[in-house]
Amino acid sequence: MPDVHCTVNTCKYWQQQNLCSAQQIVIQSDAQGGFSPNAKLEQLSATPANNIDETCCQTFKNAHA
Ligand code: SF4
Repeated sequence: MPDVHCTVNTCKYWQQQNLCSAQQIVIQSDAQGGFSPNAKLEQLSATPANNIDETCCQTFKNAHA
């Protein structure tokens, strides 16, 4: 799987340096997700989420649940 960069650092699949360790991910369009991506991925700030409804990624699982 290609590198997937993600700032949702409360997800069980999130790893240091904003990398996703999930074997597969589900993505929706911006019409559902909201914002366009920032080209400077390595500079993005953390965007923690408490549940799947707060992310654009439908594979999110709360690391602390
Ligand atoms: S929110 Fe999605 S892209 Fe981000 S670490 Fe979790 S599974 Fe991966």
